Amino acid sequence: MAEKAGITKENLVELIKILYQKIDEKKAELSKLDTEIGDGDHGFSLAKGFKSLNDKLQEYASFDTGEMLKKCGFELIKTVGGAAGAVFGTFFTGQAVYYNNNLKEKDKLSLSDFSGMLAEALAKIKKRGGAQPGDKTMVDALEPAVEALASVAKRGAGFADAFRTAADAAAAGAEKTRDMVARKGRSKNVGERGLGYKDPGAASMALILGTMADYFQSHGM
Ligand code: ADP
Ligand code: MG
Repeated sequence: MAEKAGITKENLVELIKILYQKIDEKKAELSKLDTEIGDGDHGFSLAKGFKSLNDKLQEYASFDTGEMLKKCGFELIKTVGGAAGAVFGTFFTGQAVYYNNNLKEKDKLSLSDFSGMLAEALAKIKKRGGAQPGDKTMVDALEPAVEALASVAKRGAGFADAFRTAADAAAAGAEKTRDMVARKGRSKNVGERGLGYKDPGAASMALILGTMADYFQSHGM
């Protein structure tokens, strides 16, 4: 019997490569946001981390999906460093935990599998960094996206449609951070002077999800 359509490890590898290219292309723009409410390094340090990850991707791809995602996360934690390294790295290690606990050895991931992986990533990020929605962090982009993905997955949507909905929710969530006063991370020091500015981490999370939607769309998934 033919296996149902789903995401393979090769899709994930290709996707991570494209994420690196996209973040590298937008690094100045992302750092500019961080100039307003932080120290101006966000895009550059995220791009540096993804470059390092991209350089090691072929090596990591020889492991199974769970181990590969874990290694990707640790590479970001190490090379991006600080709070951002921890939260963006956990985006991958959290997916790895869900894969290892629930999907081990499955080589085609369904939309609800992937939705579960991203929900676990969000839970681990919140636990690790302590941020809640409304604190003006990347959680404000990721949480609405994960919620949108879970409800669209239940309706049996395709990957492209589901991720477009999730990416739109993330972009709207990132926009809303303009009205928030930061309670986590470096921009906490800026306080109310940060009102009107978009959180850089929320902007990059929205970029990541938008890039995933583009990938699935261009692959007819
Ligand atoms: P740094 O603050 O060390 O200079 P970056 O500028 O690369 O790191 O990243 C800042 C981003 O990291 C913020 O815009 C925010 O979205 C995210 N961030 C910081 N602390 C947390 C946290 N505790 N939980 C979730 N996200 C966080
Ligand atoms: Mg910074």
